[in-house]
Amino acid sequence: LNGLLALASPGSICLLDGTRGTLVIEPSDAQRRRFGVLRREFKQSQSLLRRMDSKACRLKNGTRIQLLANINQTRDVDLANEHNLDGIGLYRTELMYLSAHAAPSQTTQSRHYSRAAAACGTRPVTIRTFDFAADKHPPFLSLDSPAALELRGLRLALRQSRLFKSQLRAIVRSAAEHPNIRILFPMVTGWWELTEALDLLKAVSAEEKLAHAVPVGAMIETPAAIFALPEIIQRVDFISVGCNDLAQYTLAMERSTSAQSMCGNALHPSLIRAIRQIVQTAASANCPVCVCGEAASDPILAAVFIGLGIRTLSVSPARAPVVRYALRHLSLAEAKTIAECAMRTEPAAAVDTLLAALPGELRQILRMESSP
Ligand code: PEP
Ligand code: MG
Repeated sequence: LNGLLALASPGSICLLDGTRGTLVIEPSDAQRRRFGVLRREFKQSQSLLRRMDSKACRLKNGTRIQLLANINQTRDVDLANEHNLDGIGLYRTELMYLSAHAAPSQTTQSRHYSRAAAACGTRPVTIRTFDFAADKHPPFLSLDSPAALELRGLRLALRQSRLFKSQLRAIVRSAAEHPNIRILFPMVTGWWELTEALDLLKAVSAEEKLAHAVPVGAMIETPAAIFALPEIIQRVDFISVGCNDLAQYTLAMERSTSAQSMCGNALHPSLIRAIRQIVQTAASANCPVCVCGEAASDPILAAVFIGLGIRTLSVSPARAPVVRYALRHLSLAEAKTIAECAMRTEPAAAVDTLLAALPGELRQILRMESSP
């Protein structure tokens, strides 16, 4: 929250609404009362949604959807299990580095990955290798040369090969005992980067005498990756669409910190057409596709993605109940109609138009979620 410390002082009373992404400092009595009502309604809707937690994520017509979790640290696996999710679709590993004064040891890293994998049993755990950039990197990594500003994701990892190899080795060591571990490379922009990373992984796996090949995926979050998709999918076992960054780099809109406006951006028809192209190219090569950006946790966009042919979504565990509820009230035919409609509708009109196309019981729960 930029500028927050200039507005709030120690001891300030604040009302934080995580659903809408708002913070009210020193609220009036009326705002407090209104917040109390919202809080009660939110709790009611959560308990209604959570009644479905024990059920598999299926569409109304029976189509099975894999619902995975996005996590930022090992202990978040407990949340994924609480919501009965099908595994971890995105383990963002940056936090382990950002909060450290020195690079975490291989033993420390491996302990985290193994714990997460053990807690998931046989369900997949997808560990994304670190996705640092000039504006988001650990204090021990000095990135002050002008060239560093052009680097992020996999490109940066390849330049920081010691750190990168150390992470790959930690993952490989955990994978030796936990075959449910998969690796995901962030911000892939060309197949040659992927080849270089895969060669490193192969070398580390051989050094560690790993008996199986760890399944590998590429994140598709730049237009460059979409144009290079035919070559990328030949080299990986699966792909994962990061629509937070894909929206930023496709729409020339700075990536927002609010999940709500990120989802708003994702309703741009060009972005939806881009995802359709990804799905079609991947289908022609039998390459599984997951969507793991915040948009997947918005029920309307989840419906759009299913309509485009996506069968795996990865969402923040707290959003899993509403996504599961929404999908269980939606048929594949309805999802296809909604996706067709989203590809032709201007973003400003999209929410109303798509809401009108949704089945009634689903509209009702969305209204509860977004009442002002
Ligand atoms: C994305 O870009 O959509 C994504 C899932 O990765 P991150 O949010 O970690 O950049
Ligand atoms: Mg990203």
